[in-house]
Amino acid sequence: MERENIYVTRSSMPPYEEYIEAIKPLWKSHWLTNMGEYHRELEEKLKEYLEVSNLSLMVNGHMALELAIQVMDFPEGSEVITTPFTFISTTHAIVRNRLKPVFCDVKLSDGTIDEDKIEDLITEKTVAIVPVHVYGNVCNVEEIQRIADKYNLKVIYDAAHAFGVKYKGRGIGNYGDASIFSFHATKIFNTIEGGAVAFSDPNLYGKLYNLKNFGIRGEELVTSVGANAKMNEFSAIMGLCNLKHIEGTIAKRKRLFEEYRSGLKDILGFRLFEAGTGTEQNYGYFPVLIEEEYLLNRDELYEKLRDHNVYTRKYFFPLTSDQACFKNRFRDTELVCARELAKEVLVLPMYEEMQMEKLVYILDLLNN
Ligand SMILES: *Cc1c(COP(=O)(O)O)cnc(C)c1O
Repeated sequence: MERENIYVTRSSMPPYEEYIEAIKPLWKSHWLTNMGEYHRELEEKLKEYLEVSNLSLMVNGHMALELAIQVMDFPEGSEVITTPFTFISTTHAIVRNRLKPVFCDVKLSDGTIDEDKIEDLITEKTVAIVPVHVYGNVCNVEEIQRIADKYNLKVIYDAAHAFGVKYKGRGIGNYGDASIFSFHATKIFNTIEGGAVAFSDPNLYGKLYNLKNFGIRGEELVTSVGANAKMNEFSAIMGLCNLKHIEGTIAKRKRLFEEYRSGLKDILGFRLFEAGTGTEQNYGYFPVLIEEEYLLNRDELYEKLRDHNVYTRKYFFPLTSDQACFKNRFRDTELVCARELAKEVLVLPMYEEMQMEKLVYILDLLNN
């Protein structure tokens, strides 16, 4: 029997009519980008939803991170402590700012930066920490802040996976000096392509506005070396539509997440990450760790599932520090746990519209 392919993710979309209705006014205004009405509206609605005081929309999550780092004005060649167990964008954003990533190991329990290993990596050149709330797992924000305060470092979170996550009842974007979110088509909330920076210092709003608009200050005045990172109106409207349905999106994912979790409970050799206490999750991904007790190793299981039309992802393998563009370029650090996770991790298919029978089919394959 030919089975239809099951991919790791599928974008959430609002009902067709809803979006078409919502974009109609653009044919009157002809205002398609450059911080239009819907850009402003989405910024306001997202501040509310994410419970943050300051937010700047961006064309994507990567530019959000690149500009969040640029706006801090670090001296060229400074060191930034970060993690290699992430999407390549995190490391690119640091290196493209002419800063040096110093890779810190992660915790086996949840894949986030190991706060106990940060202080050993600090030198007089260190200016910032860029941790990642990987899969929406919350970093130890309190300990990271304590270290940052002690050494006078900035903290910029890559919260690309953590849209809607709360920690101790507070929106995750309130921690550190800034947090970036991604609204890419594959993330739980999307604007097709898009992203945002949430930040604590209100003075950064004007600076980020400037940086995302070529550094233009006035009609005849350019004051900084900016980029073009503006979100267009079609994307902003997609965001407004998707935001209306976000509670439902997360609820549907939660059901799938829990079905997977209870289905895997009794299979030997499958380990799940631990959600820390005090966190409200967003169920954005379903990563599993394939340990030695399982019949197959991770790579064999990946192939086997593919033979049965189930497309999983080795998120995150290889480590960004091992990628061809970065290998042997930066300070050599010990990454024992990050390497172990990269070898064992597999992200299983999960998306809003996924039918339960597909999930049950995958569980059956894993069991056999
Ligand atoms: C998706 C992602 C990004 C980049 O976001 P884009 O919107 O795709 O540019 C950055 N960091 C992490 C961890 C991501 O998963």
